[in-house]
Amino acid sequence: LPTELTGLVLDNLREVPDFPEPGVLFRDITPLLANGEAFSTFITGLAEHYRGHIDAVAGLESRGFILAAPLAYTLGIGMLTVRKGGKLPGPVLGVDYDLEYGSARMELRPETVQEGQRVLVIDDVLATGGTAAASIDLLERSGAQVVAVCMLLELAGLGGREQLPGRQVDSVVVYP
Ligand code: AMP
Repeated sequence: LPTELTGLVLDNLREVPDFPEPGVLFRDITPLLANGEAFSTFITGLAEHYRGHIDAVAGLESRGFILAAPLAYTLGIGMLTVRKGGKLPGPVLGVDYDLEYGSARMELRPETVQEGQRVLVIDDVLATGGTAAASIDLLERSGAQVVAVCMLLELAGLGGREQLPGRQVDSVVVYP
């Protein structure tokens, strides 16, 4: 990814200790979204990087949606919504996966995916990788070819990349 993108994220990021629970350092991208010039430059830079290589952008609920929609719109391609369990009217495919505490579920409407479509998965933070791995599984079971995963921030210490073996993972900022 272009190095200018890294500066845009780092200059417009807020780190909040002990949110949403003690011990978690929450990486908040709302300053980037609120900075019109930075957000626009960021999305345009991502679009130029991926133009011609992807046929659709899959956003992971919720913050992935905010990134996927303007990226897909800029490229004139479709956006796919991979949602938390129970939000999408059927028919849906679903995957349950484990979180650090408890479990979660992601769902996708397979009819929104075209067979062989080259899809970019995008979200704000790659932590344990469970959400991304579940989402890729849903997309590929629906006929997509997931060609890359783009994350604004990768928390490398949590091992997310290891949950995505053989995948191209493009992280704008990587924390050790
Ligand atoms: P995971 O499935 O563990 O990779 O978690 C990824 C999801 O949790 C992403 O959708 C993130 O938005 C969110 N997330 C996990 N850790 C953080 C963090 N430290 N700051 C902000 N969001 C986080």
